[in-house]
Amino acid sequence: MDEKPIISIVVPVYNEEENVRLLFEKIQAVCETIGDSYEVVFVDDGSHDKTFAVLSELSKQKPQLVVIRFEKNAGQTAAMAAGFEFAQGQRIISMDGDLQNDPADIPKLLKKLEEGYDLVCGWRKERQDKFLTRRVPSIVANWIIGKVTGVPIHDNGCSLKAYRASVIKQVPLYGEMHRFIPAMSTVVGARIAEIVVTHHPRRFGKSKYGLGRVWRVMLDIIAFKFIISVFTLRPAPQKPSLRQRLSDVLFRPKQRAFRVAAFLSLPFFVLGRVLFGSANSAALSCFGLAGALLILGWITENKIQRAQKASATLGTLARFFMVQCKRRPIRFFGPVGVALFGLGVIFCTGWVTQSVLLVNSLLGAIFIAGGIFVFCSGLFGELITYANAKRVKDYTIL
Ligand code: UDP
Ligand code: MG
Repeated sequence: MDEKPIISIVVPVYNEEENVRLLFEKIQAVCETIGDSYEVVFVDDGSHDKTFAVLSELSKQKPQLVVIRFEKNAGQTAAMAAGFEFAQGQRIISMDGDLQNDPADIPKLLKKLEEGYDLVCGWRKERQDKFLTRRVPSIVANWIIGKVTGVPIHDNGCSLKAYRASVIKQVPLYGEMHRFIPAMSTVVGARIAEIVVTHHPRRFGKSKYGLGRVWRVMLDIIAFKFIISVFTLRPAPQKPSLRQRLSDVLFRPKQRAFRVAAFLSLPFFVLGRVLFGSANSAALSCFGLAGALLILGWITENKIQRAQKASATLGTLARFFMVQCKRRPIRFFGPVGVALFGLGVIFCTGWVTQSVLLVNSLLGAIFIAGGIFVFCSGLFGELITYANAKRVKDYTIL
């Protein structure tokens, strides 16, 4: 195609050989009725079955079909991000490749977008998945995400969404962020709407996720709350109240990571001061933790500012998280932090070495402080990853 299409449909697929041809035909039928030019971008996320073979065969006959292929499985978010980055259209639609979403909903989504929204989310009101293992966790997660991020969407996990390309292309997507696109879009000021969409049971192939995601999603929610509060640029109010002025001093957009660290360390300084004299190990742990948090914030601040300079290369820390470690910081440090904290609590209650009380409280205090610090390292690491997300590609386009 010589001219850029108006609409791009992005579909991540991993082992969906029975689905892709049928899905393409359905999408094509719907797009022909809309009348605008379009492209369909299938991102093959390193499938082991015949998905890629079917797609490349199909693309010989269909000029609207674009196929991006990952050499190995990089996850649904990475696949979507690659599709968004490639997409040529001003309007982008994303959907699952397993025929659970219905292409017939595309015109409705686009129409809503034209009402002046940047993001229109599908809501699978009558979701056709298992009740206990899929729908219940999803209802609870959506409720928590709504409360924590302040974006009350019923169904964050529904892939069927429509976007203004100029907006979604600004949103860094990494890890398993595709479940948090609405909340993340608010960072760039997106106007968000939601409409009910059809959902079908899976006919071919298997779901790629299990209950293991519940714990991961919990960690993600904490991390994203943190990212949003650090990176969202709030418009300056006309007449700032005292509270706003105070929070301006504490959280001005520049140097926010450091300010947040200062804010977090403050209670530990105070607690250390209160405890000082009576229980020295606890007081020292508090002071130590507060100081360590400040240093962590300062390092993070430097890394974020470095990431914002286009010419700078990826720093060592960012490289570690994004290239070498293959795990998001909160997934890496979060569980370790929680475990250390738990150990500390066990020491403090004196279950381990009942005879030597002093050792108990010393170890307890150190482990609790260490646990909090390690967990916070995960959170600050997320900020570094977020700031650098657009600079790393964990895939290759063949
Ligand atoms: N998917 C992917 N990479 C993965 C896992 C899933 O591209 O590592 C695709 C998958 O092929 C499907 C979509 O993401 O098109 C949603 O996956 P799935 O249907 O397994 O999720 P569920 O609907 O069960 O939440
Ligand atoms: Mg599915």
